[in-house]
Amino acid sequence: MFEVVIGLEVHVQLNTNSKLFCSCATSFGEEPNTNVCPTCLGLPGALPVLNKEAVHKAIMLGTALKSEINQKSIFNRKNYFYPDLPSGYQISQFEVPIVGLGQLVIDFPDGSQKTIGVTRAHLENDAGKNIHAGPVSHVDLNRAGTPLLEIVSEPDMRTAEEALLYLKKLHSIVRYLGISDANMQEGSFRCDVNVSIRPKGDTNLYTRCEIKNMNSFKFIEKAIAYEVNRHIEAWEDGIHSTEIVQETRLFNPDSGETRSMRGKEDAADYRYFPDPDLRPVIITEEMMEKYSQIPELPDEKKARFVKDYHIKDYDASVITSQLEMAHFFEEMLEEGISGKNAVTWLTVELQGRLSDSITNSPVDAKKLATIVKRIEDNTISGKAAKEVLDYLMENDASVDDVIDKLGLKQVSDDGALFAIIDEILANNPEKVAEYKAGKEKLLAFFVGQTMKASKGSANPQKVNELLKQRLA
Ligand code: ADP
Ligand code: ZN
Ligand code: MG
Repeated sequence: MFEVVIGLEVHVQLNTNSKLFCSCATSFGEEPNTNVCPTCLGLPGALPVLNKEAVHKAIMLGTALKSEINQKSIFNRKNYFYPDLPSGYQISQFEVPIVGLGQLVIDFPDGSQKTIGVTRAHLENDAGKNIHAGPVSHVDLNRAGTPLLEIVSEPDMRTAEEALLYLKKLHSIVRYLGISDANMQEGSFRCDVNVSIRPKGDTNLYTRCEIKNMNSFKFIEKAIAYEVNRHIEAWEDGIHSTEIVQETRLFNPDSGETRSMRGKEDAADYRYFPDPDLRPVIITEEMMEKYSQIPELPDEKKARFVKDYHIKDYDASVITSQLEMAHFFEEMLEEGISGKNAVTWLTVELQGRLSDSITNSPVDAKKLATIVKRIEDNTISGKAAKEVLDYLMENDASVDDVIDKLGLKQVSDDGALFAIIDEILANNPEKVAEYKAGKEKLLAFFVGQTMKASKGSANPQKVNELLKQRLA
């Protein structure tokens, strides 16, 4: 039996306005090679100046992960040649990163938890992009110099599920902190997945492969499954030590396979040395004080929701996993509805009807809450409320107007209901006699008939009450 060992390196693009060492804009999707200057083009003589905001955001992340923050950290040059790296080196941190050892807690669906060690997080600048177009290749350097925070985990994860829980939690923390848009499609949150296996019980670490640049949870899961399989087969065939070499691999979403991209460089290959153009980063007491004041994190929000709104633990984690959803939920509760109803109408009814993110929902929090409120004050039935929501998904109108327009208001008015009830009772004299003789089950029959006669508009509770009165 084998055990899987996974360690993750996540690259988070920080949402600073300008690049890490120059004042060029970091905006995405601009005309190629327009957001560039001598510094991010790596021209000789141009000097880097560190962006303070990136440092502040690193401190915030370190605080969220309960990490040691190094008072003094160093920028190093990591030397390698690639067309999208005009200077011939990346400015990164090596021996002394800004953020040291920390941790991240993941939650399993059964309520159990596991703590994953976070080795470090360091600042570095991103490379540009190579665009391959048939026989020619283009280089776009707009992204070159964009600030990245690389967050490196310990090899603490044992399954693809754990890896995904770690990534989703980290993604959510980064969004809560507001330090990155963490847009995976645009590559602002991407990761390298390191995978190895070992016989169960063995505590050694064996040769790992690194699957580079993954930006989809689904593909990460598939890539891990493929890689684990490959390692196990090699082990069982007795060729693990020759077949599995430390290397960088790429995942192909079409085939679901990984393939070798290049042999893995060792640190020595990069000839790291302190960047002589940059002084050490010193974090003062005042900076620590100021930037360790971070917003409420997903776990805290979850605990608060459970306590204040009396919702289930699991529901609270679903809602707080996404910041937009948590905001939406809290906005609904401002309308004074019950937490339980808010959960159902948000996570089941609304989400079930949305194909896109909640941010683009045609029905906003206030409207959805108003629908719930109309159920709670007996204006409409739950069934009618679904019709109102269906209508509002397609049309812009107020909840009360839609209730009127679709004629969904429940009749609770005694006079109107008695009129219907009396007619039903008059039409069924034998049943009334049977009821009075003790066959109380017949009440359901009368309720059904009344509801039918009212075309579903009667308030069932009220009907029950009035029928009992009449039959008494
Ligand atoms: P590099 O930048 O060379 O990939 P790092 O030390 O930055 O090296 O990252 C190594 C990553 O690989 C870490 O996340 C670590 O937990 C993980 N890792 C190290 N050894 C193993 C192993 N044997 N199996 C799986 N993951 C590993
Ligand atoms: Zn620049
Ligand atoms: Mg790596």
